[in-house]
Amino acid sequence: MAEFALSQPEACYAAYTFGLKHRYTYFLRTLRDIHDLLEPLEHAKSNLLIPVITDYRCSPLERDVLALPVRLGGLGITNPCREGIRDGAPRNITRALDLAGEKGSSVWLTVLPLREMGYNLDKGEFRDAIKLRYDWPIYDNPSTCVCGDRFTVHNEMICKRGGFITQRHSELKDLEAELLDMVCNDVKIEPVLQDITGEELRTGSNTAPDARLDIHANHGNHKEQHSLMSGSVTLMLTLIGT
Ligand SMILES: [Zn+2]
Repeated sequence: MAEFALSQPEACYAAYTFGLKHRYTYFLRTLRDIHDLLEPLEHAKSNLLIPVITDYRCSPLERDVLALPVRLGGLGITNPCREGIRDGAPRNITRALDLAGEKGSSVWLTVLPLREMGYNLDKGEFRDAIKLRYDWPIYDNPSTCVCGDRFTVHNEMICKRGGFITQRHSELKDLEAELLDMVCNDVKIEPVLQDITGEELRTGSNTAPDARLDIHANHGNHKEQHSLMSGSVTLMLTLIGT
């Protein structure tokens, strides 16, 4: 399985959590006092399988974290020899667990990576997503950002020149427009607003000549029922350790 995980970490993770894991759970529930006998299995998981899936070598504490259920911030890779614990974990781990335990933030780990549905991630995407989830270092990054600051995950997520802000925003905007298109007419993405010719607007309004809003939609039976929408994305994960 670890050999297979070299090129397909997400599929391997799914095969383990949807399949193999339940066999061990069955053993543990039906056979008494077999924890000691499962030690070689835990050894293989900690030292072989997890490092290949995540491209990261965990500390014993981080191994306990991964053993937690996905909804509590872990990866559901149970440790048959002991229960996952989080007492005494450093602040960055407890923060990562709190965020990963938020409603909806772990669903990507609980679906089958079906290509037809667009649920699959390539090996780099999957490993980076796991590292972002636990605030683990991501290798092969440049040392400096285009803005001149040191290149860190936190800086990249908030840097206005790094591109991620635009990328995150555009993905949500396009998804929202796609959904609105099913129920509204005349959905347009980033339409140019009409120029200001003496109108009094509230302070903070964008009065630039080429001002655009994110989405325009026409709803209801009346042609005049227009909605103009603007979106923003708030970043939570990269506040770890700052
Ligand atoms: Zn930057």
